Amino acid sequence: MSQPVYDDQNIFAKILRGEIPCNKVDECDHTLSFHDIQPQAPVHILVIPKGAYVNMTDFSENASAEEQTAYLAALGRVAKMAGVTKDGYRLIANTGQHGHQDVPHLHMHILGGHALGRMLPARS
Ligand code: 5GP
Repeated sequence: MSQPVYDDQNIFAKILRGEIPCNKVDECDHTLSFHDIQPQAPVHILVIPKGAYVNMTDFSENASAEEQTAYLAALGRVAKMAGVTKDGYRLIANTGQHGHQDVPHLHMHILGGHALGRMLPARS
């Protein structure tokens, strides 16, 4: 299935270009991590690749091995920096319409700092 075209006006592209600020947690050649502006848990950090990838499908198909390795390493590093590895945490990459993705630049949510409950609410 073809991927949506990358929109370089999305909010995370603007953060990467320094057009709007973020509360940075970590940065490397290929990734930037910052606190979510509307935290859903005591720890809520977003980890994004610096490359222009819409979502995980796009990233897994088109990012270089170096970018993919750096992204995975950033997720582990930032979770450790945030102090959630002992008690546990959750990684979420909302993808596309059914995944309820709002910002069309790949981002992984790192959530933790208290018990998060079940993965999904029961459907009514
Ligand atoms: P999504 O629903 O796409 O998985 O999540 C997008 C996330 O980006 C939301 O949790 C939202 O609070 C966060 N967000 C949206 N705009 C900004 C912003 O300007 N700065 C930061 N730090 N987070 C943002």
